[in-house]
Amino acid sequence: MQRTQILQTKDMVGETVELFGWVATRRDHGKIIFIDLRDRSGIAQVVFVPQQGDMYATAEKLRPEWVVRIKGLVKARPEKMVNADIPTGKVEIEPQELEVLNEALTPPFALDTDGYEIGEENRMKYRYLDLRRPRLAGNLVIRHKLITFIRNWLDKKEFVEVETPILTKSTPEGARDYVVPSRLYAGKFYALPQSPQQYKQLLMAAGVEKYFQIARCFRDEDTRGDRQPEFTQLDLEMSFVAREDVMALNEVLLIDMIKTVFPEKRIQEIPFPRLTHKEAIEKYQTDRPDLRKDKDDKDLLALCWIIDFPFFEKADELGDSWTFTHNPFSAPKPEAMADLLDKKNIGEILTTQYDVVLNGWEIGGGSIRNHQAEALQAVFEIMGFEKSRIESNFGHMLEAFRLGTPPHGGIAWGLDRIIALLRNEPNIREVIAFPKTGDARDLMMDGPSEISAKQLEELHLKVEKSKG
Ligand code: ASP
Repeated sequence: MQRTQILQTKDMVGETVELFGWVATRRDHGKIIFIDLRDRSGIAQVVFVPQQGDMYATAEKLRPEWVVRIKGLVKARPEKMVNADIPTGKVEIEPQELEVLNEALTPPFALDTDGYEIGEENRMKYRYLDLRRPRLAGNLVIRHKLITFIRNWLDKKEFVEVETPILTKSTPEGARDYVVPSRLYAGKFYALPQSPQQYKQLLMAAGVEKYFQIARCFRDEDTRGDRQPEFTQLDLEMSFVAREDVMALNEVLLIDMIKTVFPEKRIQEIPFPRLTHKEAIEKYQTDRPDLRKDKDDKDLLALCWIIDFPFFEKADELGDSWTFTHNPFSAPKPEAMADLLDKKNIGEILTTQYDVVLNGWEIGGGSIRNHQAEALQAVFEIMGFEKSRIESNFGHMLEAFRLGTPPHGGIAWGLDRIIALLRNEPNIREVIAFPKTGDARDLMMDGPSEISAKQLEELHLKVEKSKG
């Protein structure tokens, strides 16, 4: 017999089915035992009565989260037993066979609620249980659907997904790197990518022309609020494009994606309004304004673009050095190129950077890049980097730029945040299968953890125990 998904039983009155799943709840009404059987598609009510003999005796032992196989007849529920809240609420199962496939200890917390009421540390320690919750299981499925939509959409537009390395070298993207010690080269380290920025630009040098990747990024920051040490971007880069091209493509992709995967949502304004950085700050005191006209509507989406950011800002309070505001690889707006090359009017240079904001959250950002070596070099010189440091950190980029790199630009979206916002979740941990805690621990695997003396030795490392 073929397994039937529980959801299908809603249209199968009169048929015999074989169901596999978990005991979600058990209710005893006098001698009648009601089991809610759960699989990933839904919940089925199974009714055990004493006349069922041995099977009834087994049913009496069932506890939440036991794994079972149940063969039985799908019947219409008596009128007064219909549950309008669930899709299978008009049917129930009259069992013919019950087999226990695995017993379960009493779970450490309830799984038949939405889970917000449970301490997060506990939920993360037992994440595989937490993920059995329909809300979280639903988040995983929607995440998959959204990523599949993006992949197919970009594939139709002739983008190529390319995997870039995880073991790489430090990039100056503003955050601290996670590093991996090298066994073969004592005292040397790989860095995990903060983003695939340099690789995607080198793919443009390679002639790929249209690249994307569902890319994992790693940033060793003190985990503030909604940040995670590792997170996922839709990363994208295109050759022979201007700012308008990248913005237009992303706007259409966002709209198509929302309309297809989240048809219940309403986009407040299309085309997305555009604000310059200056306008946003003057009008809203932030470069991430929440433009929703009705903040109580959970399905209203106010998307906007922020453009014309200053390229540089003072790096310290003394004001004698400059740093980039967004991305050192950005090109200035065309009319500011002469100033960049002359290192003049630095505070007034505007970048081609564009950010996309959804309901007050920055969900993506990118820019047109410098593709000529002198321009990239000028950025680092403005930031006060010595020639030798520019060569050692970015020599490969400058060299590639001198070997026929086309004009190019791109963007990256924070996918976790987008999914959390579209699912009305309070934070990105709710849409990541195995997130870390606010203090960067994996409570389920118990990471980070110590490694053996032998591993340390192979890696040429000595650990100084902190005092106290
Ligand atoms: N790599 C940039 C980031 O991670 C995005 C981009 O400019 O494409 O923020």
